Amino acid sequence: MTYHHKVLTLWNEGSLNEEETRILRAPCTDLPIPLNSEARDQIQTLVDAFLERDDALGLAAPQIGINRKIVIFRNKGFDDERKGWSKKEKDYDLLINPRLTQTRGELVKGAEGCLSCPDIQVEVSRFPEVKVRACDRHGKRISKRYMDFLARVAQHELDHLEGRLIVDSEGTIYFPKDKKIFFERIFAKIP
Ligand SMILES: [Zn+2]
Repeated sequence: MTYHHKVLTLWNEGSLNEEETRILRAPCTDLPIPLNSEARDQIQTLVDAFLERDDALGLAAPQIGINRKIVIFRNKGFDDERKGWSKKEKDYDLLINPRLTQTRGELVKGAEGCLSCPDIQVEVSRFPEVKVRACDRHGKRISKRYMDFLARVAQHELDHLEGRLIVDSEGTIYFPKDKKIFFERIFAKIP
């Protein structure tokens, strides 16, 4: 499968990607509101990068090398991966300059994957309910409440905007057995 937009990763088959790691680790800046044409282009680029893939629940701008606060994620259809998903605008959420404004409940552990951390899953603790303030694709203010798995996805994507990744979690890391030596080496020197 080839994609038009490359997703940056902390490592590739053989070693750490230092330049891509630097970009993924850099905190993002706000988009100007009202949105200017550069901002609109950056939003569209992320939408295109997201919609061309069936293997992403969500994508954050820094993952495609855009150092701006934009995230996009599916808001339904998590159960049946093989069918793909409809990719209609109502089936995903696009958040500009999102901020977590409220969290509720006790942290819940769950295994997460990330396109920027290929081949692994990490147990990450997330709030089961969050409120997010943001702007929509037109720059209009919106407020969203996410529950359960969707709350987990939202927190994962917002973390990307601060340069935080699943490998920063204290939780158990799961990787394929045949890559044990590689990942032990990688995790010994991950920044
Ligand atoms: Zn991710």
